[in-house]
Amino acid sequence: MDHEVTVSGHALLGESLEERPVTIVVKSGIITHIEDDPHPGDNWIIPAFFNAHTHLGDSVAMDTFTDGDLVSLVTPPDGLKHRLLALASRDDTISGMRSSIQAMVRSGTAGCADFREGGINGTRMLQEAGKSLIPELIILGREGGELVADGLGVSSVRDVPHLERVVSEARNNNKLIAFHAGEKDPDDIDSALSFNPDLLIHCTHATRVQLRRCADEGIPIAVCPRSNWALGVAGSTTEPPLHDMIDLGCRVFIGTDNVMFIQPDMFAEMAFAHYVYRVPPAMLIRAAIEGSLLGKNSFFIRKGVPARFFVMNPGTSNMRFSLDHLSTIVKRGSSASILKKIFILES
Ligand SMILES: [Zn+2]
Repeated sequence: MDHEVTVSGHALLGESLEERPVTIVVKSGIITHIEDDPHPGDNWIIPAFFNAHTHLGDSVAMDTFTDGDLVSLVTPPDGLKHRLLALASRDDTISGMRSSIQAMVRSGTAGCADFREGGINGTRMLQEAGKSLIPELIILGREGGELVADGLGVSSVRDVPHLERVVSEARNNNKLIAFHAGEKDPDDIDSALSFNPDLLIHCTHATRVQLRRCADEGIPIAVCPRSNWALGVAGSTTEPPLHDMIDLGCRVFIGTDNVMFIQPDMFAEMAFAHYVYRVPPAMLIRAAIEGSLLGKNSFFIRKGVPARFFVMNPGTSNMRFSLDHLSTIVKRGSSASILKKIFILES
């Protein structure tokens, strides 16, 4: 993006998402000016989303008939997903991941943190699939794949032999460390916390004591509410305990989990979390962006950082009647309401 782009509208600025009428100038991909503009027009300018937990590889197993539980569907090594992944060709797997990344980008997502199965080959396939499609692709590999990726994604402390050695080798190579934890019960959370991870996924059944520890130690949690309901591990609006997480000061990110069951669409995830868990829109939008802290630059809009935002044009839909933009973004936003994205790589 070598040219200059100027966009005007009502923007959500900084980590506070303060809404201000502005003109934003982007030069060579960097935000160089944010100036108040008394006549910004109708557009809304929104930081791009960061999907903090995906499994893009299982795009090839999309919407296969399922009626099983967590173990029979997604737990390695014999869950249905892993059997389908083993059957898929390299070309189909890469093509599936590319298509899902394109779907993410269309719905305003400029980055994700993906748990990639399949060792070094699996990591390489996703690196190839994501090339030139999305600005921030954080790959958390396993079975050796972590050493050629950005980090390690542990399916659960219960599943991995010699975990201490695996984690310390990854740490010694300056890799991120992430764990699925607390997805079906709280029993694997304390062990995961003992590794001082960079990220926990789910915490659907975390206790307040465990959440307080996450807050105190600054360990972010990526929640995936639709996945929890799809896989039958959530049965109430306290699973995951989103309000406890917020009250205790946890850093909460949003992820969409397995593409096998769930479209990696952050608008849909926010809407679900809003209606089911009654989390306020501003908190959900922040959680949908804040996972970008795992990467080099956060996606919040401020001067001097790479442009990672998109423009919505409510004037072309009933959204122009909104009395509360944040609420409308969460409840009615979709890829169809995005006018343009100021974050696509061109190389
Ligand atoms: Zn997962």
